[in-house]
Amino acid sequence: MSVQVVAAKMAEVELKDNLARNDPHEAGSSAAASPTAEPPAKAGEGSLGLLTPNPAKMPQASAMKRLDPQQNGGEAFVNRDGTVAEAPRMKKQIQFADQKQEFNKRPSKIGRRSLSRSISQSSTDSYSSAASYTDSSDDETSPRDKQQKNSKGNGDFCIKNIKQADFGRREIEIAEQEMPALMALRKRAQGEKPLAGAKVVGCTHITAQTAVLMETLSALGAQCRWAACNIYSTQNEVAAALAEGGFSVFAWKGESEDDFWWCIDRCVNVEGWQPNMILDDGGDLTHWIYKKYPNMFKKIKGIVEESVTGVHRLYQLSKAGKLCVPAMNVNDSVTKQKFDNLYCCRESILDGLKRTTDVMFGGKQVVVCGYGEVGKGCCAALKAMGSIVYVTEIDPICALQACMDGFRLVKLNEVIRQVDIVITCTGNKNVVVREYLDRMKNGCIVCNMGHSNTEIDVASLRTPELTWERVRSQVDHVIWPDGKRIVLLAEGRLLNLSCSTVPTFVLSITATTQALALIELYNAPEGRYKQDVYLLPKKMDEYVASLHLPTFDAHLTELTDEQAKYLGLNKNGPFKPNYYR
Ligand code: NAD
Repeated sequence: MSVQVVAAKMAEVELKDNLARNDPHEAGSSAAASPTAEPPAKAGEGSLGLLTPNPAKMPQASAMKRLDPQQNGGEAFVNRDGTVAEAPRMKKQIQFADQKQEFNKRPSKIGRRSLSRSISQSSTDSYSSAASYTDSSDDETSPRDKQQKNSKGNGDFCIKNIKQADFGRREIEIAEQEMPALMALRKRAQGEKPLAGAKVVGCTHITAQTAVLMETLSALGAQCRWAACNIYSTQNEVAAALAEGGFSVFAWKGESEDDFWWCIDRCVNVEGWQPNMILDDGGDLTHWIYKKYPNMFKKIKGIVEESVTGVHRLYQLSKAGKLCVPAMNVNDSVTKQKFDNLYCCRESILDGLKRTTDVMFGGKQVVVCGYGEVGKGCCAALKAMGSIVYVTEIDPICALQACMDGFRLVKLNEVIRQVDIVITCTGNKNVVVREYLDRMKNGCIVCNMGHSNTEIDVASLRTPELTWERVRSQVDHVIWPDGKRIVLLAEGRLLNLSCSTVPTFVLSITATTQALALIELYNAPEGRYKQDVYLLPKKMDEYVASLHLPTFDAHLTELTDEQAKYLGLNKNGPFKPNYYR
């Protein structure tokens, strides 16, 4: 049977899916164990209509609670079914930018730039494939000072230059090629609009991939207003194409902090339009609505959050009893974790290093700190290129995995003098401290793939005896008094997000998960989701993966009745228990 037939059959079966309540995987699931996660038993009141499994009959998203940090060091969550899941490794309290309601007094250009820094760090753990080819515009006029209209006379947007729309459209068309699941959702939505009436306010990177998501949401019936979650990542031409297509977009590359909040405010503070769904990436939009327009939550049905940072904020709200609508943690869905962290980094580590340094990998000695998903991806790519790879780890299990995969497990101080490249991917802080930086050899490249800029102690390099030289964008030479220099990439921020693009196919997986989470929350019957943070149901995760399989002409094996019975599984999934990550 061809994969198309299998996929179609899968979807069809999922429509009619009558998930057995006594499925052993579900029996121990959080939905079963948690009264708060249990949906009202209104069979047939499905949220997802034709697009996804019948949610009235599918496992519910599992709410997760933080373990007491006193007991576990703040590093894990316990699901309500008693299983433990890894927590986002965020130790520091997020500092929100000062609130500004008054947007008129705009800072000077220099002031704008310095303000920008704090924002860019608040949203560093989600992806932007922000290659923009039209940034060299000499037009210094702030978009806020321009009156622009699209070809239909609509001016409800604020972007750099509407004239770039054609170019942006081409970018979007390229992205569509690598986002098969969203395109499939659009096709299946013909005649069915699971998001009819949805008013989605979004705050994400504004790139060609996001545009494909927004246009899919629109095809599914939603109205969208959008701002950027990062001041640097907007592809101006894509924003123009979206504005030309009728989307109310408020974003441009190089926003100031003031612009950033102004754009968010323009998305939500509009006469005659009130959002009923939030799609956030970093938590800034959610935070803004909480602070400025708390009454809006009366109409908001749910929040979908993508990033580690934003999810952490949601859990903080939940813990404080301040979360007033259900929220979906897309960051921790299996498809995102498995594909973003491992495969995305496997591809983008080489890209980031190559673009910044033109380094040749063959024979180079590289030390990778941390052998989690990101570290595994980096190591695999470098090994394949002929590099000699060392690994450092604190966890004996990951350490053993590194050994079994053929890497030398070392302490950083054992190899720091000899390595050509140091890569951190631990999610921890101060992994590469000044002592190690002092001992590195001349020309050593130092970079980070973890979510924030805490892994390399960059601050320790800002001392009078060291000279900093900007070599290229995002590339600094730090020079010691004896002439030794190290090559520091992206000032210790995420290398791939700062210096390269991220594969569209990976973004497709995340974007599909976001779309399904929106559909699920929007259509869920009253009471299915409480004011808590939920994971996407496993069956939806599997559905996201299945929508991507036809790209590879992959032939999925179907369980026989006998095999299904033997394994105690429903033939149509879910195939793994809820705690499977
Ligand atoms: P993970 O928890 O699976 O792996 C991190 C590993 O680092 C763990 O095995 C841990 O034991 C190890 N570790 C912690 N402290 C260490 C230390 N001092 N020395 C050596 N090892 C140490 O996490 P992950 O999924 O691999 O993600 C790692 C980081 O990368 C996170 O911060 C995550 O947010 C980020 N991330 C980045 C990208 C990207 O595109 N760059 C993608 C996904 C995740």
